[in-house]
Amino acid sequence: MIWASGWKLAAAVSNAGGLGLIGSGSMYPDVLLEHIRKCKSATSRPFGVNVPLLYPDIDKHIDIIIREGVEIVFTSAGNPKTWTAVLKEKGIKVVHVVSSSKFAQKAEAAGCDAVVAEGFEAGGHNGREETTSMVLIPAVTQSVTIPVIAAGGIATGRQMLAAMVLGAEGVQVGSRFVASEEASSHLKFKERVVQSQEGDTMLSMKQLTPVRLIRNKFFREIVAAEQRGASEEELKQILGRARAKKGMYEGDMEEGELEIGQVSALIHEILPAANIVENIIREFEEGLKDPLKKL
Ligand code: NDP
Repeated sequence: MIWASGWKLAAAVSNAGGLGLIGSGSMYPDVLLEHIRKCKSATSRPFGVNVPLLYPDIDKHIDIIIREGVEIVFTSAGNPKTWTAVLKEKGIKVVHVVSSSKFAQKAEAAGCDAVVAEGFEAGGHNGREETTSMVLIPAVTQSVTIPVIAAGGIATGRQMLAAMVLGAEGVQVGSRFVASEEASSHLKFKERVVQSQEGDTMLSMKQLTPVRLIRNKFFREIVAAEQRGASEEELKQILGRARAKKGMYEGDMEEGELEIGQVSALIHEILPAANIVENIIREFEEGLKDPLKKL
């Protein structure tokens, strides 16, 4: 959710009864500080910060999170051993995002309070093993004793219900909130998400860091390079720097990196975050009453 989930979106989700997360991966430390402070004044409810463990200035982010009294941290894209104990010592709840049972067990051993089991359908950073949510959720719930939050391909209440039937205790929803009024993403990206069809996103860059992207000009270039056997160095050169910002924040729909999940095919309108939360809960409750009803 880099370039999408700032204080406006996180506070709106928390105010609507969810747990809003600030995506810190695209924020310089002073920017993160500002977003945490604004989020605190915009909601009296709990919110969290997502920290990609490969963020270059991570020690500064962790320091700000501790000093500002953030109570919940979601970590992703890295080894949970490094920071979990530091955060736990300060009384912070730590949830780590995993793409396999093996990593879920490592997160539990590192002392995490819960894991997010994120399937292959998810946008952005993704697992190498391509395990789909349908397989990953039961596999992870059977392999750890801590609560499991399902992610990857979840944007509706029916999908939330299905994840819970498979053993999840909660869901993490990303892509649906990119197409929200409060997301800081460029309007062109939000509109591209709304127009997406099945098959518009694919996994790429397994040689560097696997990422699910919309198939635009940049995607085709990087895939063509992968197919001709380009070295890691060449791929890094093609990727360059700040591609994600170019696409998702600056609105360059051809040269930018557009990270979104497969579920974008089911997203048809940009809505206020509160309506998204209400719709998910309403569909979930309706589904619970009559789970086998044909839609
Ligand atoms: P790049 O190296 O291509 O570019 C860095 C981007 O991050 C720039 O746009 C830069 O903004 C911004 N940035 C924020 N803080 C810093 C900092 N301290 N040092 C340097 N740049 C900073 O990286 P990406 O855009 O591909 O990824 C950015 C971050 O987001 C990474 O930490 C990555 O791990 C994370 N990420 C997490 C994902 C997830 O699923 N968890 C998915 C994708 C990315 P500016 O251009 O204004 O200088």
